Amino acid sequence: IGLKHVRDIAPYVGGKPISEVAREFGLDESKIVKLASNENPLGMPESAKKAMAKAAEDLGRYPDSNGFELKNALATKLNVPVEWITLGNGSNDILELTARAVAQEGDEVVFSKHAFAVYPLATQAVGAKAIEVAATADFGHDLPAMLKAITAKTRLVFVANPNNPTGTFLKASEIEAFLQKVPEHVVVVIDEAYNEFLTPEQQYDAIAWVRRYPNVIVSRSFSKAYGLAGLRIGYGIAQNNITDLLNRIRQPFNVNSLAQAAAIAALADSAFLKKCYDLNCAGYAQLTKAFDLMGLSYIPSSGNFVLVKVGEEPNAGAKVNLELLKAGVIVRPVGNYGLPQWLRISIGLPEENQIFIDALKKILGR
Ligand code: PMP
Repeated sequence: IGLKHVRDIAPYVGGKPISEVAREFGLDESKIVKLASNENPLGMPESAKKAMAKAAEDLGRYPDSNGFELKNALATKLNVPVEWITLGNGSNDILELTARAVAQEGDEVVFSKHAFAVYPLATQAVGAKAIEVAATADFGHDLPAMLKAITAKTRLVFVANPNNPTGTFLKASEIEAFLQKVPEHVVVVIDEAYNEFLTPEQQYDAIAWVRRYPNVIVSRSFSKAYGLAGLRIGYGIAQNNITDLLNRIRQPFNVNSLAQAAAIAALADSAFLKKCYDLNCAGYAQLTKAFDLMGLSYIPSSGNFVLVKVGEEPNAGAKVNLELLKAGVIVRPVGNYGLPQWLRISIGLPEENQIFIDALKKILGR
């Protein structure tokens, strides 16, 4: 039973929840530190909790299928027509909807090696062929090589900026040069799930590309800097030609009422966003300083996580990960991304980062 291209998919493996790790390793749940899923260490903003509690009183009704209020808030903030916004059940939904709208069996979808795991999944789910392009020497997207990989069969290209799990960042000029040469029949997703963590110097105007290129869609998330991962909400920004397609195939009520209410509040909560940004900068400095002192290589990251090389043995990542789990620290091994000697550490609260650092020092004897 089942389509061959579906049977061939290797399922997504998410991080283990704290309760499961506690049970498996006989640990006290309250002492476990989870730095594994690029979640916000501050959790949900209070403003969003309040808005959600109010929305919870009316769950007998369906959510607003068109997300009127949130889409208008986003359109105002981004200065685009409201028809250019598509809400998704997480930005994952936007990635999958785009793949479903433009690619099928016989088509090709291009993305980079070490890029976000959902790109191959979304590609294979529609029966299209995944074209994985070798990364640059410093683990980034090789946009000129990705351009060369585009054929008459290509329908879609995924570009993650910054990318997960590598944290690598592409400058606006590099993306601009790429977009100028991408043929019109190819849709380009610019996945900006971690956009809010970019420094002011790194920030660029992706919406200008949406205005200029009818084959570009930018996707963003409320899961990371806005702290709403469990509610599942993200959005896409594209011109009507793409938005209209996504609207035809999305579930009519793909974003629930609690998520919509919380996102409206979070979007307006600039104080929370600033606090997350500052906390992330400090945590990144704390972790990378410790890696420097331990003599460990890491990939400079523009996200809320960092990849660190924990050994030279072929499976060093898995080995060290197991020891960290025993010590009550959950991080993310990235062997499935072709990086079996590395671990991805989500940036946590200062005390959480320190618990991880101390455990790693002990395990590696550094
Ligand atoms: N894109 C990238 C690069 C990600 O790392 C993630 C989350 N892991 C997503 C998209 C999807 O996030 P969400 O569905 O929670 O918005």
